[in-house]
Amino acid sequence: MNQFDMPPAEFQRYGYEVVDWIASYLANVGDLPVLPDIQPGDLIDALPGSAPDDPEPMEQILSDFRGRIVPALSQWNHPRFHAFFANTASAPGILAEALAAAVNTNGMLWKASPGHVELEQVVLSWLRQWLGLPAEFFGEIMDTASTSTMQAIAAARVQADPELRARGARQGMILYSSEHAHSSIEKGALSLGIGQDNVHKIGVDAEYRMRPDLLKSTIASDRENGLTPFCVVSTVGTTSVSSIDPVAAVQRIAEEECLWHHIDAAYGGPAAILQENRWMLEGAERADSLVINPHKWLFTPVDCSVFYCRKPEMLRRAFSLVPEYLRTDQHERAVNFMDYGFALGRRFRALKLWFIMRYFGRKKIEEMLRYHIALAHELTGAVTADPRFEVAAPTTLSLVCFRYRGTDDENKQIIERLNKSGFTFLGGNVLDGRFVIRYAIGNIATSREDVVAVWERIQEAAALLDSASRVTSTAL
Ligand code: PLP
Repeated sequence: MNQFDMPPAEFQRYGYEVVDWIASYLANVGDLPVLPDIQPGDLIDALPGSAPDDPEPMEQILSDFRGRIVPALSQWNHPRFHAFFANTASAPGILAEALAAAVNTNGMLWKASPGHVELEQVVLSWLRQWLGLPAEFFGEIMDTASTSTMQAIAAARVQADPELRARGARQGMILYSSEHAHSSIEKGALSLGIGQDNVHKIGVDAEYRMRPDLLKSTIASDRENGLTPFCVVSTVGTTSVSSIDPVAAVQRIAEEECLWHHIDAAYGGPAAILQENRWMLEGAERADSLVINPHKWLFTPVDCSVFYCRKPEMLRRAFSLVPEYLRTDQHERAVNFMDYGFALGRRFRALKLWFIMRYFGRKKIEEMLRYHIALAHELTGAVTADPRFEVAAPTTLSLVCFRYRGTDDENKQIIERLNKSGFTFLGGNVLDGRFVIRYAIGNIATSREDVVAVWERIQEAAALLDSASRVTSTAL
């Protein structure tokens, strides 16, 4: 028996206790405040400044978790968490996370854990089929879309400049994305030394979609100026408004101009599983790479970002470097994931995706996605019907952007009032120079009743602003 770790009987006892707690938490999280009533530094001040020298009882550790840590958390699994892109740690995903921690594999090499590596291949082949992508797409699971996209940009650059690996980066290599692309594109470029000035943002149309004509003309003028275009990133489901860039048109330009085309479908990708949304990924089958985040809208606990690449040889060119201690026998079917990315160590993230895809099946997942999209459209309808509000951008997926027809400050007051109440967590953004309320739907627990109740509270907050402004104008 292991002389140092927790004895099995104790593990079993606390294991049951933890599972009981999780079950009760998931059932009742909707009764907790979505945001904690906490000031910066409060938790740091409440916890000991240094770790214990002697063992502490598990009862105490669990009690502190429940009593000190949980109340200081924002409840991401709350049905009325509508900020950022709302997401879900679904029950099968949570169970799989526990099991992944138990077996504790590192899938860097096939030899390091064959089952881990092969399950990742199986599950990514399943997801690829759901998305209608062709079999030549190589898939790997990363921590975040930021990492996936950075790897795509690295592969794109080494394709355009094969000497880069030995010589180092060349200047004047240009990357394109729309003005509404996520900051991770620019951050990827920053991290790779491409330079912020070399990320050229392409203007959008009235529905916030990248304009292919502007992409084409910008590439032409960059070439005239002696620059080297090498990559374009289109987005399926932008962070600001969930707009869908015209993937097929961008793909055609990428082919004409010999650019790498990476698709950021981190948030919107799951929607393309639905037959009625297949058009969103039209052209993606010929693209070079694509990222989709199951940890956003596929009910998977953070972290799980799926990166598909049609040219794995470019990933190898960018990243493969094998020290002697990691050298293993070559076998056609044995994938060594460490050759296809920056990180060596890799968590067993495939397990939770496998659990989730099996537990819900395609039909249930489609039902949940459609439900969220329908809720977003219903909310959009309610906003449109209230003359005090306006919809700020078309609702394409499960994000609704709208504003109270008042000042930016008044819109911020509405959000602040609701967020302070603990009832919900709404986000904000600046769109076309105006502050807008950003309402994201994506948690498995969100019901129509939740959306209706939050909307009623938003209307109440607006009514308070209306009456405040009436008092002010009467006083004047
Ligand atoms: N791409 C889009 C469209 C996003 O909305 C986000 C985050 O919200 C990201 C990329 C970055 O995702 P991650 O946190 O996985 O890096």
